[in-house]
Order: sequence, then structure tokens, then C-alpha cells
Amino acid sequence: MSETTSEMITETATGRPAPRARVKAMPEYHPPLGARGALRLDFNENTLACSAKVREVLGNISTGALTRYPERGPVEALVAARLGRKAEEVALTNGVDEAIHVLFEAFLEEGDEVLLPVPTYTMYEIYAASTEARTVTVLAADDLAFPFERLMAEITPRTKVIAIANPNSPSGTSATRDQLLAIACRAPQAVMLVDEAYYHFHGETVMDLVGTIPNLFVARTFSKAYGLAGLRLGLLSGPEELMRWVRRVLSPYSVNSLALACLPAAMEDTEYLDWYVAEVLAARAEFEAAIDEVGLRRWPSRANFVLVDTGARHAEFVKRMRAEGVLVRDRSNDPGCDGRVRITIGTREQMRHAADELKSTIAAMRLGR
Ligand code: PMP
Repeated sequence: MSETTSEMITETATGRPAPRARVKAMPEYHPPLGARGALRLDFNENTLACSAKVREVLGNISTGALTRYPERGPVEALVAARLGRKAEEVALTNGVDEAIHVLFEAFLEEGDEVLLPVPTYTMYEIYAASTEARTVTVLAADDLAFPFERLMAEITPRTKVIAIANPNSPSGTSATRDQLLAIACRAPQAVMLVDEAYYHFHGETVMDLVGTIPNLFVARTFSKAYGLAGLRLGLLSGPEELMRWVRRVLSPYSVNSLALACLPAAMEDTEYLDWYVAEVLAARAEFEAAIDEVGLRRWPSRANFVLVDTGARHAEFVKRMRAEGVLVRDRSNDPGCDGRVRITIGTREQMRHAADELKSTIAAMRLGR
């Protein structure tokens, strides 16, 4: 290397480009995704598999097909039709995370406020932090019920985005349709995002109101009930006039061709979806009974997970369960969640095994073994 080149490198190294101040101030988020060979009850995924019909599609994808850029339009139109929406009202995204990201990027600027009931899904705060807006949080009471009245009271003319996961995570509790409507009407200047990631386990939706309520957006994911978290596939539905702005920010290529190829088969196989959801709901009832038997506090869940209070020894509980081959997620760092652990619900067979491990772990901890 010539002397001049090495001088130039040193110079660049000292005067490195600086990120935006807001990016510098952002918290780092490292979900514990490594070494997950055990029973995965930590990320609210489908714990089994996707539909066999999807597997078939994947097996038939030609190498030639992979040489082409993905074309999202036809699949978007198909999904919109299935949801009873116009194609202009639906965008496919690289998971709901991308939907949140582009929505925030499209609408938030300096002086705006993002209103969030907490605890809730971590990525709202992360993506809000990368914009110039300020986040305002409303802490749920000890019962973790949706803090409707207090959220309404925090709406100001600066409120520009309100994001509500319904059902919420990590609590599993839900807001009613009337509450969501009232919030959307109170804040007509704000984008109201209802994140229905866990819709299939809950069965209630406001998707039918998209286009009627002028500021309502609804997100859905294929990562949970459909079992396609690895494909990264979500959707955002909103009023046509507002979706135009979202599409300006959204990459036309962010949903890859494997995901696009699989989506129609995933949506058509309602038999598999219904079976998996019914299995999870049956398993949830059994597992909740096991939690009650052990005497731990839990919160009522409308989703494929249950939040449990394991007390001050939460980290030890998670570690012991991991040692027994069951991964669960410590949510102690979430606002108002000290000591609480979230356990994903899988099939009855998986959850009977998890219940046995729960019982023996708690018994051992109580005996100080
Ligand atoms: N919203 C909520 C409420 C979630 O819990 C999650 C995933 N944990 C997501 C969105 C992200 O979904 P996706 O995998 O589609 O990005």
C-alpha cells in the first residue's frame, strides 16, 4: 500500500461519517435468536410448520424464477380480493415490521407525537426513535388491560401516529372495536395503526372498516398462525389516498419472490390454518389450567401466548426451562412487566410437555433445589 493511500485511510478512520443524532440515540435491539434448537415458546411463532401446500410450492420453484425481480402487484391484488379490499388499499411488506417502518417514515416529522399504550410490541418505539417524532407512552394498570381512557386523554393536536397491537404483546389482552373506533375518531389528524398480528387467535378485526374510517390502517402478518416467519411476509391495509404515500416509501422489491409464490397457497389452505388455530386455542386452555395449578399469576390471553408472573427469580426460571429444553421469553424489561415471562402456545402435545417442565421447574425452585 502506498504511503498516500494509508494516510487517506487513517484520515477517513478518524473523521468517520456520523449518523443522524436520532439514530445515535436509538436503543439497540438484539432479540435472542441464537441457539434455538429446543421447543420454541419464545417468539410467538407457529411452533410446528407451515401448510404442506406451501412446502409444495417452495419445492417447485425453478432456478430461472429466482433470476427475476419479484413482481408484487398480482399477489397484492389477490390478497386484497381475499380480504374484500381494493388492490390500492393493500400493500404487501417484508413482515409487519416493514409496514410499521414505512408507515412511520411516511407520516412522522419533527414536532409529531407517537402515542403508544405500553407494554407493547418493541418495534413501534424503535422505528419511532429513528424519526424526528417524540414517543408518548401510556402505561397499562397492573391488570394490563387496554388503557383506553388514559390513552384518549393523551391525544393532542400533535398526535400523528397511534399504534395499537390488538391483541397486544406481551400481555395478550385486547381492545374492543368500539374503543378502537373512538380513538380513531378522536384523532382524525393521526394515523391509527391497528396491528392484528395475532388476529387468527382472536377472531376480531377492524379490517372491514378500512376505507370507511379515513385514518385507519390495519396490519397482518404471515409469521404467526401461517407459520411463515422465515419468509418475512406481512401486509398493510389503509385508505387508498393514504396508501399512496406509504407506497412512495416502500421498496417495490422488499417482498421476495419465494414469499410471493407461497402466499396464495398459504391463504387458500384455510383447512390447515383453522386446524392450527384450533389446536393452539385448545392447548392454551390446557396450559392455562396448568399455570393455575402451579399457582402462578397469569393474564387473560387472546393470542398464541400467555404472560406469567414468575416473580423476582424470573431469570432463573427462564434459564432452568431452557436447560430442560423449553425456550420462554423474559419480558421483565418491558414497562410494568418486572418478573413476567411470556410463553408461546404451541400444539397440545408440545404444551403438555411444557406444562410438565413448568411444574417440575417451579417445584424445584420452591424447594430451593
Ligand atoms: N406486531 C406484533 C404485535 C408482533 O408481536 C410481531 C412479532 N413478534 C410483529 C408485529 C412482527 O411481525 P412480522 O414477523 O410480520 O414482522
